[in-house]
Amino acid sequence: MLPGGAVRAGSETDILLLSCMDFRLANETEDYMTGQGLRDKYDHVILAGASLGVLTDKYPAWGQAFREHVDIAIKLHQIHKLVVIDHRDCGAYKVLLGEDFAKDPAKETTIHETKMKELSAIVKKDFPTLEVELLLMDLDGVVEKIGAGGHFTRIGR
Ligand SMILES: [Zn+2]
Repeated sequence: MLPGGAVRAGSETDILLLSCMDFRLANETEDYMTGQGLRDKYDHVILAGASLGVLTDKYPAWGQAFREHVDIAIKLHQIHKLVVIDHRDCGAYKVLLGEDFAKDPAKETTIHETKMKELSAIVKKDFPTLEVELLLMDLDGVVEKIGAGGHFTRIGR
């Protein structure tokens, strides 16, 4: 709030971000959102593996916690969009799926694309008002967006 009790313009949000807990990309994730004009304008849920964290059978409580956070974000802030940022060389993907996908970038792209689209389908079913954006971040912070037909488009920093 500003002096005099005025609410800062643009203090509302309409986006919920889901990202991985990996410390290496904390700043890059914030930088990306800031670059999209979203600094201080998004709710943020963090799960190891991002999309995979929601989907994994190994920790079903994570998926439940995610759904409950989406629900609350809709009630509190009327969010209309979920942004999902998976990332390359993700330790959670390695641990939860038992394979080091970083060794094969094409295969890594495919597994993230598969999991993120699976999550997108679930979210659109459970929360039909939400738009879903799927992004894959490299360790240098460059983000690839899954577009129509499953192709990735690189977005510079
Ligand atoms: Zn990760």
